[in-house]
Amino acid sequence: MPTRRIFLQQTGLIASSLAFSPLSIAQSPKKDRLGVALVGLGYYSTDLIAPALQLTKNCYLAGIVTGTPSKAETWAKKYNIPEKNVYNYQNFDKIADNPDIDVVYVILPPSMHREYVIRAAKAGKHVWVEKPMAMTEKECQDMINACKQNKRSLAVGYRLQHEPNTQEYIKFLREGKIGKIKMVSCSAGYNDNRTTHWKQKKEMGGGVMYDMGVYVLQGARLATGEEPISVTAQQYTTRPEIYKNGLDETTMAQLVFPSGARAAVQTSFGINMNFLHVTGEKGFLKMEPYSAYNGQTGEASGGVKIKHPYDVPRQQAMQMDDDADAIMNNKPLIAPGEEGLRDIRIVEAIYRAAKSGQSVKLT
Ligand code: NAD
Repeated sequence: MPTRRIFLQQTGLIASSLAFSPLSIAQSPKKDRLGVALVGLGYYSTDLIAPALQLTKNCYLAGIVTGTPSKAETWAKKYNIPEKNVYNYQNFDKIADNPDIDVVYVILPPSMHREYVIRAAKAGKHVWVEKPMAMTEKECQDMINACKQNKRSLAVGYRLQHEPNTQEYIKFLREGKIGKIKMVSCSAGYNDNRTTHWKQKKEMGGGVMYDMGVYVLQGARLATGEEPISVTAQQYTTRPEIYKNGLDETTMAQLVFPSGARAAVQTSFGINMNFLHVTGEKGFLKMEPYSAYNGQTGEASGGVKIKHPYDVPRQQAMQMDDDADAIMNNKPLIAPGEEGLRDIRIVEAIYRAAKSGQSVKLT
């Protein structure tokens, strides 16, 4: 068993509720590499996931699902994808009959995740879905249920949980190296100058709390190892002509954890920022950048340095190799659907808290 997985289990990051073993309930013939079909060939698929699939050893790019015939042609040529493994959104369900495809990876705008995850599960495929998992806790639960009913696994594309710097800081904190955690501050934001992209459309899952917000929630949850019991939140915009009617440009939230630990998280489409700072009874830990595609660097009390360099898109390759390994070898997933649901539940509470100006309970 790889060391990373052992420590995740020891530290409780693969919790008992996450101990879903795909093959214990799904009797698939054993393969040594899984075929992955990407649904949605936008920025993340094109620039990160397809190149990462050229580096993976447990899975490979076997198929594509796209609504744009010209993209289908370019991709098929570039990645040597046979015509029988190219689908569009209408004939996608026929993927059920294609033994080349083991996993469907949904990389669409968040409002489309639920539909395509459920269709993939019904087609008998394991499913990976990008963050944010969906727009509501109910949608996340529907997706989890569909995969369970069809005896398929469901992983969320939380790439950081698979990368060595994140894994090291979590281990450091869980081992009590800075004592009881008292305060976490986590920020993730960038300047998004687009105005008509889905990230600027509320109904498509736009808004920064869904997008970069799940990273700061992950920071707070992974640092404390706890689930928040209440939240307060504030939102503001510097571009009211774009960010209006509940679509957030900048969100700040405060989380209270059962141990008494607190977290202040900030996320923005108008501010470049990216760090995690954890204060414990006996010291501190800081990661900056915190959620980048590479370059994560940490320091902590006692002269501790955290730095495991790698090139882009190795992080995404590690994620997909871990998830394919879990499917093939009947191991728990590092970030299953339940993990995505936990964050969306908090995102919804934060939107409610920001709107009402009141503290929202999560128990
Ligand atoms: P994108 O806009 O670049 O691509 C979206 C794709 O969906 C396009 O190919 C588009 O054609 C397709 N699509 C199909 N129907 C559509 C519709 N009705 N409206 C808009 N697009 C439609 O987006 P992206 O940046 O690739 O993001 C896709 C997913 O990946 C999102 O969930 C996003 O949060 C996630 N993502 C994750 C990371 C990460 O680091 N894990 C990074 C970027 C994006």
